[in-house]
Amino acid sequence: MTVINPFKEAADAIIEAGGEPVKSCYQCGLCTGICPWNLVRSFLTQRLIHQAQFGLVDLENEDIWLCATCGACVERCPRNVEIIDIMRAIRRIGVLGGVTPKPLRTTMTSLGTVGNPWGEAQEKRADWAKGLDVKMFTKGTELLFFPCCTPAYDPRARRMAIAGAKVLKKAGVDFGILGPDESCCGESARKAGDEALFESLAKNNIEAFTRNGVSKILTLSPHCYHAFKHEYPEFGGDFDVIHYTQFLAQLIDEGKIKPTKELNKKVAYHDPCYLGRHNKIYDEPRKILNSIPGLELIELPDSGPDSLCCGGGGGRIWMETKKEERFSDIRIQQAIEVGAEVLAVSCPYCLLNFDDSLLTMEKGDVLEIRDISELLQAAI
Ligand code: SF4
Repeated sequence: MTVINPFKEAADAIIEAGGEPVKSCYQCGLCTGICPWNLVRSFLTQRLIHQAQFGLVDLENEDIWLCATCGACVERCPRNVEIIDIMRAIRRIGVLGGVTPKPLRTTMTSLGTVGNPWGEAQEKRADWAKGLDVKMFTKGTELLFFPCCTPAYDPRARRMAIAGAKVLKKAGVDFGILGPDESCCGESARKAGDEALFESLAKNNIEAFTRNGVSKILTLSPHCYHAFKHEYPEFGGDFDVIHYTQFLAQLIDEGKIKPTKELNKKVAYHDPCYLGRHNKIYDEPRKILNSIPGLELIELPDSGPDSLCCGGGGGRIWMETKKEERFSDIRIQQAIEVGAEVLAVSCPYCLLNFDDSLLTMEKGDVLEIRDISELLQAAI
């Protein structure tokens, strides 16, 4: 067992790595009570924080890699402890100590070498847009369309980028893509504790955006949105960032998009953690869904600020999660129980996790997973 040296230096190392909030915790345990891991196994959030306070974290315990950074605990904490910063700090020590789990290490290697987690060639980054007549971004283009690595490369998530681009084209929006000139936003590298990799990816993107004259960025992923909006300014990257659900809701308000084709289905919307809890964007996705004729929007039991995490944040999307421990399975069951025929999402990680669960639970005959962009595209 490798234990951080149980002396002040070890606790100081965690604080230096960004874990300063440990000092405020008074061990009430409310964070453990709300943590979704306790739906599927035992995970004592406050115990890990307590160990961090005293420099006693066991770096070889898989618990340090469990947190999906959903933010539910942060909302619940009476001391406003930034628990995610503590988890990140512990992981930073873990990364420096060389104990990163193998799948995560493989992903981080791909991010560092080819700029995407899938290990795909950089020059293929714009392949998803072939045949769509999407232009490359040039100086003066109004909007940069940032697809995120997952829709750019993953064949299942690609439909999100394609639908999004088709809707924007139909609305006459002036947008372009950077293709091989951009890299992963790096958000999951930071949450997984690889701060140096995150900084390198962030600086590369800021340089590319600036060189190409980008001022406004539309993101498909709430994770890219979060990184560009809240984390890139730390490195001088100040851009006008908008999530696609916000942008499309605006276009509907302005009458530039008019859904006319009926979709006579019951649709439940899943709030992604990084759009909802982290960025308080709850209304716009629902506004888009409610604009589609015939669509009946129903709410899931844990909805809005209480949304159950899909399990993909904090770098978890790149790690193996045992079948019986997948939050996404619980979410699929909830959607079926409320009578939904479609589970609508607005995040590529949610899309992949729910697609996987639907497949392994063999529930594809009663429920389908659709991104909001796909539903809107079908309606116009
Ligand atoms: Fe500490 Fe906040 Fe968790 Fe309570 S809810 S144990 S104060 S981190």
